Amino acid sequence: MGELYAFLGAMKLGVFIERDGVLNKVRLERQHQVTPSTLAEFEINMEAAPLLKKLKAAGLVVIVTTNQPGLSNGLSRREVDRMHDALRRALPLDDILVCPHAETDRCPCRKPKPGLLIEAKFKWQLDMDRSFVISEKWQDAEAARAAGCTSVMIQSPWVGSVHHDFLLPNLKAAVDKILQLHVPGTAVAA
Ligand SMILES: [Zn+2]
Repeated sequence: MGELYAFLGAMKLGVFIERDGVLNKVRLERQHQVTPSTLAEFEINMEAAPLLKKLKAAGLVVIVTTNQPGLSNGLSRREVDRMHDALRRALPLDDILVCPHAETDRCPCRKPKPGLLIEAKFKWQLDMDRSFVISEKWQDAEAARAAGCTSVMIQSPWVGSVHHDFLLPNLKAAVDKILQLHVPGTAVAA
């Protein structure tokens, strides 16, 4: 028993965050998000920086997950790496996990499948039952459900009707909700 509790105590908790539309801005074309394909197009949501800092300060591992099917179809890996270098410089991130596959590849990592979350679970020794997913897309809510994480969704046209645990108006409210759930009794700024 003692060993089991020591092991559980050593496990970390993660917050998985969708990239496009949450941490960087996206162009809209006919109700669809268009992923930036060059560093020049990559506009980081700097309002996220102090919010992610709060998650880190609470001891949570902050991990970005992103589907980039363009990598199977002409999007430059080098350009994606440059965008992610910029993202790491701007925001306090522990990791960025990418699915480079197209839907037709039937890979296990393209969200709504939970492959990226499972990969992070082993890499970072995460307790998934006490970890969180933040996104404004139903695919992340579905991946969270499959991986056993709590989904904290941000209201958007893409949130869909699949199961989610919480629905908040914006990233700040989502982060505050996680801090409240993670550390009961923590004061949440109004
Ligand atoms: Zn994949």
